[in-house]
Amino acid sequence: MVQDTVSDELLAAIRTIPDYPRKGIIFRDITTLLGNARAFRRAVDALVQPWAGSKVDQVAGIEARGFILGGAVAHQLSAGFVPIRKKGKLPHETVRIAYSLEYGLDEMEMHKDAITPGDKVILVDDLIATGGTAEAATKLLLQMGAVVVAACFIVDLPDLGGRKRIEDLGVPVRTLVDFPGH
Ligand code: AMP
Repeated sequence: MVQDTVSDELLAAIRTIPDYPRKGIIFRDITTLLGNARAFRRAVDALVQPWAGSKVDQVAGIEARGFILGGAVAHQLSAGFVPIRKKGKLPHETVRIAYSLEYGLDEMEMHKDAITPGDKVILVDDLIATGGTAEAATKLLLQMGAVVVAACFIVDLPDLGGRKRIEDLGVPVRTLVDFPGH
């Protein structure tokens, strides 16, 4: 987490919606941050700050909010962008990985030719909760021979322990704000 006035500003720009999409979930809605020009720029600047000036080949974004942030991050780093999507959405040959959700399994995929082995890749999503989604995406990138330089998220829900699952894969995690609970 980035502990300064930037994180206070970002915290204030994120809307909290209790009981969405189901009772008991506290949804952290970043659309209000995206709609706030200053907060959006600050979030993207802060996410990429450790890699500004270093060579990053690709930014991989997780569908769907990771596309918005990942596109901006890729532009900022002069890197390419790779979409990681729910299964069945990408038109060319894909590689796929299954991962568990709260209820049951899902699958995500990326194009087989999206990564060249040895590419330096930064993974981006809006939020890390249990880490299951980002862990699957990281494993997919590693399987493709990517060097995953970091996984970046605006929001961390530290009580759910997602960060450790990514760090256990040898990938550093960068987050900008924390919310307690789930
Ligand atoms: P997880 O796999 O548990 O880390 O969940 C991360 C994914 O689910 C991200 O793509 C988030 O956008 C979404 N997500 C999980 N929990 C929340 C929440 N409380 N508020 C908003 N999005 C969430």
